[in-house]
Amino acid sequence: MQKSTKVLLLVLAILVLINAVIWYAVIRNQRDGTLTVSFLNIGQGDATFIESPSGVQVLIDGGKGRAVLRELSGVMPWFDRSIDVVIGTHPDQDHIGGLPDVLARYRVSTVLRSSVLDEEGSDFAAFNEAIAKEKESGGVEMIAERGQVFDLGDGATLTILFPDRDVPGLETNTGSVVARLKYGNTSFMLTGDSPQSIEEYLVRLDGEALHSSVLKAGHHGSRTSSSPLFVGFVDPEYAVFSRGCDNSYGHPHEEVVELFKRFEVQTRDTCDGRVTFVSDGQSVRTR
Ligand SMILES: [Zn+2]
Repeated sequence: MQKSTKVLLLVLAILVLINAVIWYAVIRNQRDGTLTVSFLNIGQGDATFIESPSGVQVLIDGGKGRAVLRELSGVMPWFDRSIDVVIGTHPDQDHIGGLPDVLARYRVSTVLRSSVLDEEGSDFAAFNEAIAKEKESGGVEMIAERGQVFDLGDGATLTILFPDRDVPGLETNTGSVVARLKYGNTSFMLTGDSPQSIEEYLVRLDGEALHSSVLKAGHHGSRTSSSPLFVGFVDPEYAVFSRGCDNSYGHPHEEVVELFKRFEVQTRDTCDGRVTFVSDGQSVRTR
């Protein structure tokens, strides 16, 4: 074979390969009118990745450490280096500890956080520093407030239910951002580490409107959350425990596991690996 033919064949082979990679990326990115919600496997903590039917991406919390980066690379295409909205529900390490790394790696348009403060916390300081850097490159910082509605495109919305006021001095869990994601007839209740007092307050404010297909069990399945009244009003099909295996807190607590059993709610557990739900707007299924 002539040298020039060899070079030509090599160039052709490379072009075919590039073409295949691009099509693979395009096909992987096809959404077919579905919303996906992934409770990431990041150990003890919360990190929930949402991708709307139109491709808008939201990350709620980032666990602690760098586990979130590994998980994000599993749910996002390799060429995608941006996230539309990142939410830090409250300043505890198992929620915002991993977010500075996320903000460093990805371009983030909006960072939403609770007004609750943790002046002493080093994770809180690192999070604020990372937000300040993101703002320098065009990101926007917002304080979560009841009534805010994020339009995620194609009919999917994320509505903030709590805090309903400025809560700088509140205990950090109590100041958690509570959000409800809705797409068609399906919905997800995401409460961070909100305690029962806030859950019951929301029952008084929202009543039946709390109903959701999927509930992330508050505070990793701790008995301090998942008030029977609240779970009754949310009346989910599925509940998710976002937690690490063998965590020192004993999450999920037995009472909470029993409660979901009694209410005939199916449970999923990130200790078994990443938990992904897919909604077509009519129903949710686990993947
Ligand atoms: Zn937590």
